[in-house]
Amino acid sequence: MGIINDKLDQWYRLRLESQLEYLVPQTIKEIEVRFKFQYNNNPVVNFDMPPDLISPNNSRLSNALFRGGIYDSRTNEIHINPDSVWPHKSGIIDTLLIYLNQDRWFIYIPDLDLKQVLAHELGHCHNHELLKSEGRDLLEYRLDKKYFEFRGFIEEGISVFIANEICNTHYEMKLNRINPEEIPQQYGYQLVKPILEKHSRTGIIHLLNHDPTKKELGNPKLYQERILAELS
Ligand SMILES: [Zn+2]
Repeated sequence: MGIINDKLDQWYRLRLESQLEYLVPQTIKEIEVRFKFQYNNNPVVNFDMPPDLISPNNSRLSNALFRGGIYDSRTNEIHINPDSVWPHKSGIIDTLLIYLNQDRWFIYIPDLDLKQVLAHELGHCHNHELLKSEGRDLLEYRLDKKYFEFRGFIEEGISVFIANEICNTHYEMKLNRINPEEIPQQYGYQLVKPILEKHSRTGIIHLLNHDPTKKELGNPKLYQERILAELS
């Protein structure tokens, strides 16, 4: 990498960092207003991905889960992967131009919007604080063996829903068309979406407290119907 490329990398990084300065307080405020919630401790946000945090078992699922960022409930820190995000509101052309200026053979396209990733991780922090207010903990919730069967999709889905509300990026996909191992966030999102569209705050609390039964694991529609009936 030559001097020009180093300068571009620096410029790109500075741009992300300067956006983060205003995006963190702004996004926190937006989540608080939209979800009638108050953060007790605002998390610290860093551009890095500590390797020990990324994946306990290096599975395809956990790699897919932690591609853009990760929230560490033990330290109350959000880690954002600078290689996976582009600056907020920059399009693919903008990003491509930045990288086309680098060595010709090296074209790397980050594909996640900074604010979308930030709002998603702030969603996990929000879930952690809700669990804490009930004497529970996100880490304990995630370590439960049910996590990778189904529970993880619920908690991921809530965080995606929060980010999509804040960034106005809702979309529709059929649950049976999604491979949960490949795109776990989308699977979780479609799972909780019909519930949270009707009941946002009460829906989130209810979902965090009601795991699916064995039968419902095989048929997510049953789970959605039961939760909606319980909430109405
Ligand atoms: Zn997540």
